Amino acid sequence: CGIVGYVGPRPSQDILLAGLARLEYRGYDSAGIAVIDEQGDLGMRKKAGKLAMLRDSLAEHPLAAGTTGIGHTRWATHGGPTDVNAHPHLADDDKLAVIHNGIIENFNVLRDELISEGVTFRSETDTEVAAALLGREYRASGDLASAFRAVVNRLEGAFTLLAMHEDQPGVVVGARRNSPLVIGLGEGENFLGSDVAAFVEHTRKALAIGQDQMVTITPSSVEVTDFDGNPVEAQPFDVSWDA
Ligand code: GLU
Repeated sequence: CGIVGYVGPRPSQDILLAGLARLEYRGYDSAGIAVIDEQGDLGMRKKAGKLAMLRDSLAEHPLAAGTTGIGHTRWATHGGPTDVNAHPHLADDDKLAVIHNGIIENFNVLRDELISEGVTFRSETDTEVAAALLGREYRASGDLASAFRAVVNRLEGAFTLLAMHEDQPGVVVGARRNSPLVIGLGEGENFLGSDVAAFVEHTRKALAIGQDQMVTITPSSVEVTDFDGNPVEAQPFDVSWDA
């Protein structure tokens, strides 16, 4: 399973697919990407099976090009390896996309809470609960980073979580608990990855994100905080292994 995120000036689709290909060694059963296009619309494509299946699907039904995107390979834990259960998962009228590696232990409680508020779910995953929760928090606050902070504070278990919203193109947020997430620093572009393989062909400058920390990246900025929103100094490291 693997995670990659990109913000910058370049079309993101090829960067996401190449990053996912480099993470293939970790194993997976499904793959998907979401991209915010030049019109500010969020497009998403996901498939059970190998990355080649996703590539075929994208060739047949291309996504509009966009420079903000997230990509995911899934190792199913909750819900079988189907197209619907593959990530990204969408919320807030499909304006918001979320990807996740790990297990949200308290998803049942959160799911019941959301269902009682009238939310309907498309998949059997624990992840879609985080997406729906983020949709609710985003509608309340209108700010992706603070909505995301409210969500991660309610999740128990293990997660590397990335999200983006079409109202805030050029922003990807990420968080980690008991699961890895690193930042890749580029020139006018930034990356997130579940490991450095996700972006090693683009930059060798990386920042580590600590346990229970979250990050907001734009093409020109990187902001790491703890789950209370306090700024954190992320530790730089050089990616030295052979690409
Ligand atoms: N628990 C999530 C799911 O089953 C994520 C699994 C993963 O780590 O890829 O969809």
